[in-house]
Amino acid sequence: MITNADVSEALFQLAESHPAGDLRFALLRTAYAVFDHPRELSGSRRLPESAALEVLPALAMLRSCRTPDALSAAAHRLAGPNGLRGSSSREGFLTAAEVERTVASPTSPDPRCLRGAAHWHTRASDGAGTLESMARACVRRGAMWAVVTDHTRGLACVNGLDAEGVALQNRSVRAWNHRHGEELWLLQGLEAEILDDGRLDLPRAARSGVLLIASVHTDLADRRDQTGRLLRAIEEPGVWALGHPRGRLFARRSGVRANWEVVFAAAAAAGVLIEINGFPRRQDLDPALLGLARDVGCRFLLASDAHHTRHLAFDETAIALAAHGGVPVSAIVNFEPLDHLASARPDLALP
Ligand SMILES: [Zn+2]
Ligand SMILES: [Zn+2]
Repeated sequence: MITNADVSEALFQLAESHPAGDLRFALLRTAYAVFDHPRELSGSRRLPESAALEVLPALAMLRSCRTPDALSAAAHRLAGPNGLRGSSSREGFLTAAEVERTVASPTSPDPRCLRGAAHWHTRASDGAGTLESMARACVRRGAMWAVVTDHTRGLACVNGLDAEGVALQNRSVRAWNHRHGEELWLLQGLEAEILDDGRLDLPRAARSGVLLIASVHTDLADRRDQTGRLLRAIEEPGVWALGHPRGRLFARRSGVRANWEVVFAAAAAAGVLIEINGFPRRQDLDPALLGLARDVGCRFLLASDAHHTRHLAFDETAIALAAHGGVPVSAIVNFEPLDHLASARPDLALP
């Protein structure tokens, strides 16, 4: 069967085969539309609404192909002067249709059994919702506990929280728990910057009682090996999880280079969780590296990286990645009750 993954990849390659201009832009827009379409196009009569009109005939031709050979022949007929080429920046990503299919299959971890909603942002940094509205949306999704992780005021986020902002949010978290803690227990986290030398942009004194996700947001196009930077970050006191470890972005960049086996072994030894970031353009880690992390004994945190209430559903993309990477439910903290977190972190405020 020809899938949306095949058709959208053909469209990306076609777009890049043409010089910059309207046609290239229309092909790119349609490639993203197919990638994000929640149902497989083959066998369905509807095309994605955001597909560009001027390339609908090309899309119709590609999706009517029955075999990879036929698809490749059709793409070559449509190709522009630059020729067709794949890109590592698009490898190891799941289309929206693959995510839907995966989480519905009986071998996938069941999204209905998720207890913890982790890694999401509010207006206090670069999110769109208030703490309250995001927490209510977590309740609607069936979560029992949730971790807000706004950005710290690092190099890459001017809107991040400073010490005063952290204290202010802590008061709101406590107020929520006082009123609604039996429904959903909120925990305060922070998404801190891993600086270029591997240290974090947050003083040690500010890390107690906070679930810290350490993430790379800078030097992501640097082709040098960054194992040392990540190892240093893992050793930093108070780190709970390594956020979107590769820092990759779909169709844009492949992210940092590192000796991942060494990084994962260090995380496993230090008890630092490896994040599975389900934001569809991130999908970080990818299934192949997840398998490697699982094999060296890592434990995992599913993250929606939501910047809006409707993004909280991206934890299903993270579940699909876990399923493809062979990560068992028993290795994912989001499926555990709150008191399991408590045993590892006596500094947390718990019910
Ligand atoms: Zn981030
Ligand atoms: Zn984030």
